[in-house]
Amino acid sequence: MLKYLKSYRAFFENSADAMLVIAHGEFVECNSAAVKMLGCSCKEELIGAPPCKLSPEFQLDGRSSREKSLEMLNIAQEQGNHRFEWNHIRNDEEVFPVEVSLTRVEADGGLEFFTVWRDITERKQVEAAMVESEETYKTILMASPDDITIADLSGRLLMFSDAATKMFGYDREEGPGKTILDFIDSEDHEMARVNMEKMMQEGHSGPNEYRAIRKDRSCFDIEVNSALIRDCQGNPFRMVLIARDITHRKKADQKIQELVLQLEVERDLAQRNSLTDNLTGLLNRRFFDTTLQAEFSRHKRTGSQLSLIMIDVDYFKKYNDYYGHLEGDDCLRQIARALKMASERGADLVTRYGGEEFAVILPDTNRQGALVLSERIAGSVLELKLPHADSDISEWVTLSMGVASTADQVLDNGSQLVELADQAMYRAKKNGRNRCEIFVPGLE
Ligand code: GH3
Ligand code: MG
Ligand code: MG
Repeated sequence: MLKYLKSYRAFFENSADAMLVIAHGEFVECNSAAVKMLGCSCKEELIGAPPCKLSPEFQLDGRSSREKSLEMLNIAQEQGNHRFEWNHIRNDEEVFPVEVSLTRVEADGGLEFFTVWRDITERKQVEAAMVESEETYKTILMASPDDITIADLSGRLLMFSDAATKMFGYDREEGPGKTILDFIDSEDHEMARVNMEKMMQEGHSGPNEYRAIRKDRSCFDIEVNSALIRDCQGNPFRMVLIARDITHRKKADQKIQELVLQLEVERDLAQRNSLTDNLTGLLNRRFFDTTLQAEFSRHKRTGSQLSLIMIDVDYFKKYNDYYGHLEGDDCLRQIARALKMASERGADLVTRYGGEEFAVILPDTNRQGALVLSERIAGSVLELKLPHADSDISEWVTLSMGVASTADQVLDNGSQLVELADQAMYRAKKNGRNRCEIFVPGLE
């Protein structure tokens, strides 16, 4: 053995591991690393000493150093090589972990052993830190109320947390081997694949919502966040998925949505009620007042013409008296429909002014245009042929109308336009009803 060492002297001397040769039960050669590691001051302290002399007489496990070193040498002698780890106690009482390899060598003068000692303090520390961090993660994983699942990159489960077993109704050992898609409703598989692609590209994905399936095939809603786990070279090798049962939140969301919808319906209804008239469905007096003012301002601003038709049903008191109030209501509804049909232009606003009176606001319309429309209105009501047995002028329900336009007179506000149209309408009454009169300045 020593003969071979001559050839490898430089390697032997410079090795960071302690190297020693044992012959006839004692050290016959060693390198400087051995002197340092085993706490000696020079080689001579080791040469000639038996291995058991490197440690206090008794080891941590209560056995003598002699028994222990003989046992190791015997194993190496039988097997040719013996590699083991132990906590070495030096004579100066320093304790450190070592990995020892003991190799039997057949030499001319009998048996020799070549032994290499490696101080593995650092490796042990790293291993301990890894175990510690793994334990920490496991504890977090198991304590989390959310399902935490670790899967390989194909989506096959490697670890299933306690919360996951509860959430999906499986036993812990039933999880691994299944794929992520086994827990998701088939309708959501495509979305899950797309999200996984996204995670592979961006490193993470979510929150994504899916319909999840329990072992008993019942469904529930989950929200999933996922991320890639990378190795020390930065290459992804696993993924972690955190799933949360959002059934309660979904139900609450649904309830809120229903409430919002209901409120919107009520709001729309209230709005419509405030702008329309209950009996006829036409825009009401409130709407008439605001719109007329707005259109009048626009006329003042732009110089566009604005016309108004005031409409009054003839002998309507008599109608009610003759046919009854309910029939009277129905008659008003039919007249309202006819007015709507007759005014086909979107900009014309047919309103119920009050009682049996209606008003049509005609933006961008001159007197002539308004007169044409009033004739159409009279025609369409006559076409209805609503019987009025008690009318003094016709066997049918008739209307009296008055037309006024902003071109007739210089006006200050919309109400003055109403007054002019009213005056024309009263002239129509006076002149025999069932007609339309245009406001003529100086005539009223
Ligand atoms: P004139 O030809 O001069 O206009 O006579 P008139 O009877 O139509 O006029 P008057 O103003 O004397 O009567 C209007 C009637 O309209 C009285 C009222 O009972 C009736 N009326 C007003 N609003 C409604 C309603 O909403 N429904 C019913 N059925 N009748 C209504
Ligand atoms: Mg009236
Ligand atoms: Mg009337």
